[in-house]
Amino acid sequence: MYEKNRLLQRKLDNLIKQAQANERKQQLYESFGFDIIGVDTPAQLSELLLCQMSSRFQLVDVVLCLVDHHQDTEHLFFNPNEEAHLYYTNRLLILDTETDANLIQLLPDHPLLGNPVLKKYRWMILNLESCAQVKSAALLPLTRSGRIIGTLLLLSHDINRYQEGVGTLFLQKLSAMTAVAIENCLNQQRIKEISYQDTLTQAYNRRYFDLRLKEEIARCMRCDDDLICMFLDVDHFKKINDTYGHQTGDRVLKHMVNLIKEQVRTCDIVARYGGEEFVVALPMTTLQAAHDIAERLRQTICSATLNFQDKPLKFSISIGIACLQSLITIQPQDIEILSAALLDKADQALYAAKSGGRNQVAVYGKRQVSVNRAQSMQKQL
Ligand code: GH3
Ligand code: MG
Ligand code: MG
Repeated sequence: MYEKNRLLQRKLDNLIKQAQANERKQQLYESFGFDIIGVDTPAQLSELLLCQMSSRFQLVDVVLCLVDHHQDTEHLFFNPNEEAHLYYTNRLLILDTETDANLIQLLPDHPLLGNPVLKKYRWMILNLESCAQVKSAALLPLTRSGRIIGTLLLLSHDINRYQEGVGTLFLQKLSAMTAVAIENCLNQQRIKEISYQDTLTQAYNRRYFDLRLKEEIARCMRCDDDLICMFLDVDHFKKINDTYGHQTGDRVLKHMVNLIKEQVRTCDIVARYGGEEFVVALPMTTLQAAHDIAERLRQTICSATLNFQDKPLKFSISIGIACLQSLITIQPQDIEILSAALLDKADQALYAAKSGGRNQVAVYGKRQVSVNRAQSMQKQL
């Protein structure tokens, strides 16, 4: 009788322990679920899933794989200037619907646990430093409106943590909340981008440029980097409008922005500052390199041709350049003052390029001004 009681007591203790463990687990999943639903931006989402989740769930690592249905996920998630970029690169895999179609086809539509994950989806973890420590894994599909938008891969050093046949209710809830959060923050980011875009040319607008220029100035000052600001203006644009009509003038602006975007890096910021005036910010660029880029831009644009009623339409631009380093003597180093001064100096250089005859590049503070045609001109700003 006494022995029976002890056995029963032990069983009861185990059940209580299990219930307590389940309650803790539920609390952990619930609090993470609340956090993930509250996320607003791709940056916050990456931080939560790819940095915090491992420690909160005692995992070796976490990999998020996203299907790029709208060809914008990489651009919305990654800021190439961020130091965390490399850390995220191996943990955030973005699949292209065309080139990665075979991989997308293999993504599961229900949670997968244990060995099959590590065999079939090894490509997801190959570039992780932690790869050798991974002993078990759970691959959770992320779906919205019946369509797979990605997977979340949880990696554990405990071989028993994720095994086939183990209940997946918590994991299913987590993946449903993660999918909602991803869709939500990508959509919010898209809305933000639209409000920062010039509708005619698809360049950024002045509001965005002013914000980003200040951010870049702050970053460059922290890292002791240089930052270039270019002012670009279409030459005799009024005449183009008067001769060919306003709609053709619009085509010129659109074409010009496409040509500029082709010549600069993704981290450079191309914006329409107003009318037929554009600005480009080039982080981590020397004045000499910026001058070469501006000259290449000028040449590309003046050798490009648009069709107007089967006749070629040609146009040119003038460019003014200024660099942050030349302003660093300004005291106190107030970001607002520096950003206004940088734009003002680039504008002054543009004015010099215009008054020098147009279709040329001028650098603020340089006697030598790069000029169109073969001759060189001397200008003192
Ligand atoms: P400059 O070589 O000195 O720069 O001469 P410009 O004729 O280019 O400069 P000006 O400032 O005299 O004229 C700019 C013109 O750009 C006037 C304005 O009507 C036109 N413009 C401004 N925004 C737009 C636009 O969105 N579309 C079109 N088609 N024209 C625009
Ligand atoms: Mg003009
Ligand atoms: Mg102008």
